[in-house]
Amino acid sequence: MANGETYDVLIIGGGLAGLACALHLSKNNRKVLLVEKQQYPHHKVCGEYVSMEVVPYLKSLGIDPFSVGAKRIGNFEISNHKGQLLKTKLPLGGFGISRYAFDAMLYNAIKDKVTLHFDTVDTVQYHDNHFEVITQGKEVFKADYVVGAYGKRSNIDVDQHRKFITEKTPWLAVKAHYEYDFKDDTVALHNFNGGYCGLSKTEMDTVNACYLTTYKSFKEFGNIEDFQKQVLSKNPYLKEFFQNAKPLFKKPLTIGQISFDKKLPVENHIFMIGDSAGLIHPLCGNGMAMAIHSAKIFSEFFLKSTKKESYSRLDLETQYTQLWNKTFSNRLKVGRNIQGMLLHPKATNVGFSVAKMFPSILPAIIKRTHGELLV
Ligand SMILES: Cc1cc2nc3c(=O)[nH]c(=O)nc-3n(C[C@H](O)[C@H](O)[C@H](O)COP(=O)(O)OP(=O)(O)OC[C@H]3O[C@@H](n4cnc5c(N)ncnc54)[C@H](O)[C@@H]3O)c2cc1C
Repeated sequence: MANGETYDVLIIGGGLAGLACALHLSKNNRKVLLVEKQQYPHHKVCGEYVSMEVVPYLKSLGIDPFSVGAKRIGNFEISNHKGQLLKTKLPLGGFGISRYAFDAMLYNAIKDKVTLHFDTVDTVQYHDNHFEVITQGKEVFKADYVVGAYGKRSNIDVDQHRKFITEKTPWLAVKAHYEYDFKDDTVALHNFNGGYCGLSKTEMDTVNACYLTTYKSFKEFGNIEDFQKQVLSKNPYLKEFFQNAKPLFKKPLTIGQISFDKKLPVENHIFMIGDSAGLIHPLCGNGMAMAIHSAKIFSEFFLKSTKKESYSRLDLETQYTQLWNKTFSNRLKVGRNIQGMLLHPKATNVGFSVAKMFPSILPAIIKRTHGELLV
């Protein structure tokens, strides 16, 4: 069925990037359609620690995470495989909020302002300077511009023949909420052989535990419970956590095939934001802030450029690519390097000894994976 209207911008995916972009563009009178495959609210595999850098921008969109009880987090703890612990203050700090609440908050802010369609996008076709977007429910939508905000991995990546989608990746992630006595103002990152696990509080007073590991480490055990007992619990902090924390989900959520490969910010004329443009290693705790930040830079750039009397699609694509790379490429590179080090116990131990001798190193590294306040 063809829908007669042509939208200025069609956004595929209503995670944080897509929702923030929809809100920003609609506030500036652009005709936006957001297509999302899942209803709200829903849980997502995520560490649920958000860098404070996004707070001023969210406020400008009318979103205040603290109004639903997000926890203010100012302290960071990291332990190595043996349980040696380093503590530091977070340069900017952040907040703890479940994706269940955070995504739904943005959704509630847009639902009366933006046209929303709940369905899975199947195909995106570009011809004669226009897009046709076809969903699994056989709806056909027309738009002048399409924004890809569909996350780290999607059927759209296959449809668009993106290079990274054909490469196998070693990463999987597990997440669940727990009842456990944990400090409100702290985010912890505990390393174990083959991965790391983040702990932080959410607005519901639950503790979110989310870990990233490799299929290679996991496959020997085959089930989550044994893996947590045999591998994660070699780290004494994780042992104490998994022995005493009461699980609140029927079973943990899992995702696989997580790719940290390089992607392009514009592909087949689709402007990518959030994880669709590039995923930073989760240990940096900056993916959500980057998703929201990329929605901001795309929206501002798009609004400004399309106000001009004449502009070409090619110019927009080239300039957005430059802007995205200038803002995020270095952070992704630093994240890749830190991840590389943490997965080698010997290198981690050397890093820990150096950071113990020079305590300013840890906050300096954190700064390099984060941005400034987004005003
Ligand atoms: C293990 C792990 C831990 C993490 N921990 C943290 C952390 O503590 N802090 C942090 O800041 N970041 C963290 N991140 C990163 C963070 O989760 C992401 O960067 C963030 O979710 C990106 O938001 P997004 O809007 O780009 O994508 P998403 O939130 O994934 O949203 C994409 C949306 O697109 C929809 N969609 C997909 N395909 C289609 C389709 N074909 N049609 C319609 N809709 C579609 C999906 O349903 C989804 O709602 C972590 C990531 C991982 C993997």
